[in-house]
Amino acid sequence: LRNSYVSCFDFYNDEQHGKELYAERLINDMDRALSEKQFRVFYQPKYSITGSQPRLSSAEALIRWFHPEFGMVSPGQFISLFEENGLIQKLDRFVWNEAAAQIRQWKDCYGIDIPVSVNVSRVNMFNAHLADILENIAAQNGLDHAELLLEITESAYTDNSDQIVEAVNKLRMCGFRIEMDDFGSGYSSLNMLTTLPIDALKLDMKFIREICENEKNERLVGIMIDIARLLEVPVIAEGVETKEQMELLKRLGCNIIQGYYFSKPLPPEEFGILIEKELRE
Ligand code: C2E
Ligand code: CA
Ligand code: CA
Ligand code: CA
Repeated sequence: LRNSYVSCFDFYNDEQHGKELYAERLINDMDRALSEKQFRVFYQPKYSITGSQPRLSSAEALIRWFHPEFGMVSPGQFISLFEENGLIQKLDRFVWNEAAAQIRQWKDCYGIDIPVSVNVSRVNMFNAHLADILENIAAQNGLDHAELLLEITESAYTDNSDQIVEAVNKLRMCGFRIEMDDFGSGYSSLNMLTTLPIDALKLDMKFIREICENEKNERLVGIMIDIARLLEVPVIAEGVETKEQMELLKRLGCNIIQGYYFSKPLPPEEFGILIEKELRE
């Protein structure tokens, strides 16, 4: 018994140690990965479902890391790691630049405006130059500020919420629009909701997952959509994987849908094909 306990313990330590080494590698490799273009921005389409036919309305920029040794590393493995040591600021800035250049390219190539939302880690909200940085990026690419949408996760509003709200207000005064990501994941207090500076609510994916199987979930989503109506902002549902989910969400009054039902996040070339298809219809 004693032996097996000891070996289990060692195994745990090895595993823990392995994880730490992996994290350390990712941190050390980040700079070189940026200069060697191992990071790529993918785009997942969002469709407006308020008309008779779904229409391509915008996209979300999502980072992908093609590591020479580890293969494709998903953001779930490095975003929070990079948030801990501030590297996220550099990475997010890379994504914003890429996304802005992409919007420009689609405009020039197809004569179509596809606003792109970028994820803004809460760490950036404490950067006093955030609005200037984003304004510069928009200006360099000749974009209207409203074309670069900013997704800020609901949990970012939790601590230091005065400071966050102030930063968000400043961005909105500059003309940027804010989508609250992961809404309903449990952080915003109801009394705060009516004063929140936001332009759209993005429902947390976990409510969508069981929306057709679980009537309570369906009602909960209905209530969240009512809250959005009260705030007079559109609702986006992400993680929509089936036609049934899409139709139910449409019936509940959801405005915009994002998810595998329409498309996974795509490299820019493939997103271009979606745009061409949209223009033909
Ligand atoms: P998020 O912002 O909530 O993004 C949605 C995630 O759901 C994405 O995962 C997307 O690929 C995935 N997804 C979309 N549709 C479906 C679906 O129908 N079913 C399922 N199961 N999943 C779906 P991804 O790309 O792995 O990103 C994970 C998280 O990493 C993001 O969650 C976001 O918090 C963070 N992230 C990604 N890119 C960036 C970035 O450039 N900057 C920052 N700060 N965070 C990022
Ligand atoms: Ca997001
Ligand atoms: Ca989300
Ligand atoms: Ca998330």
